[in-house]
Parts: sequence; structure tokens; C-alpha cells
Amino acid sequence: MTMSATVLEITAELAAVGRAAVSSGLVLASGGNLSARLPDDNAFVVTASGTWLDRLMPADFSIVSMSGEVLEGHATPSSEWKLHQRSYAARPDINAVVHVHPQYAVLLDALGHPIRLMTLDHAYYVKSVGVTPYFPNGSDDLADSAGEQAVEHDCVLMSHHGCSALGDSVEMAFRRALNLEEAAAATYRAIAIGDFTTTFPPADFAQLHHA
Ligand code: 13P
Ligand code: ZN
Repeated sequence: MTMSATVLEITAELAAVGRAAVSSGLVLASGGNLSARLPDDNAFVVTASGTWLDRLMPADFSIVSMSGEVLEGHATPSSEWKLHQRSYAARPDINAVVHVHPQYAVLLDALGHPIRLMTLDHAYYVKSVGVTPYFPNGSDDLADSAGEQAVEHDCVLMSHHGCSALGDSVEMAFRRALNLEEAAAATYRAIAIGDFTTTFPPADFAQLHHA
């Protein structure tokens, strides 16, 4: 199969984010998956199932239509392809989905602690966090629930599993994932020093989204 220059450019961008996601500790081993929308084709490029995000080559991607058909590339797309499809369907404004397994975010949620957005970057990039109940990976329930949360939130935490971060670009989706995990780590530290309040950012931060 020969991929177009545009698709190759997108796979290179996703591969770079995959390496950064692994080196940042957002995902381990072959966990996680990444995608970017191909607007002209009503389809998206997504990592194949079982790929390691720091070893992605062009052959490790599938092109999947919005109706769920594998159009090109690897025959076995990510087991979470429906999560990506439902997110794109819910949010015409987004062009990339980063699904990773950030440890602090998942741990805090599992223990019943909301993630607090404490810094300017957290407030700006994460803005708000949607949460889905636990559903098996790759399931319609998980994809549907994450899609519903995506209507309101750019960052969706999937209980006992991971998160999906959405963006108008691959870089923006990744920035959101990084900031979500940084906010979770900050929340964890706050709890570790005995602060169980629910401190959220100054009310003025809300204006960041109306500038
Ligand atoms: P895939 O390797 O099939 O993309 O699955 C990884 C994952 O994170 C499942 O939720
Ligand atoms: Zn996952």
C-alpha cells in the first residue's frame, strides 16, 4: 500500500507525539493509541492495534472511514478505533485524539479524587475534565460514553483505564494530555501534604477561554 504524502506527514507527526508520550511516562509498553482526522476523506488515520507508541512506522497505521471501514494501511486498527470515531463524530472542530494511560490521573479518579486544575496552563489547556464510568476497552459503551463527554470536554478520563485528549491539531491534543497528567500529579502532591480541599484555579482563569 502506498500512502499519500499528506498521510505520511500525519503519520510522522503522530509518531513524534508517540515517542514523546512514552518518554513523558504517559503510556507504557503497547498501551495507548493516536489518531488524526483526514477531513477531505471523512476518515481518520489511527495507530494499529498492539503498536508501541515510541516505535511507530508508516506501516503501523490504518485509515478508517467514519463508518468504520478500514480503507487503507494496516488491516487491524487500534481496538479503540470506535473511541476515536465517536470523538470525531461528536466534535467537528477537533482533528486529533490522543489516548494514553496517565498514571496519576487514573489513580486519583480510581480513589475518588477529582483532578484539580491549579495553574494557568492546566486551566488553559485542560479547561475541564469529563469522566466515563469503567467500561471494557474497545467496547461500544466506552466509545459512546467518551463521545458523550467529548461534547463538553477536551479531556476525558476513562475510569480505571486512561484518558482521551482532543485537539484541533495533534500537538494541541498532546499538550492537553500532558497538562491533564501534570494537574493530576499536582493534585496528588497536594493530597500527600494533607490538602484535601478542592482548590480550583482563580475565577479569573475562566476569562482565558473568552479572550
Ligand atoms: P490498541 O493497541 O489496540 O490500540 O489498544 C491499546 C489501548 O490503550 C486499549 O485501550
Ligand atoms: Zn487504553
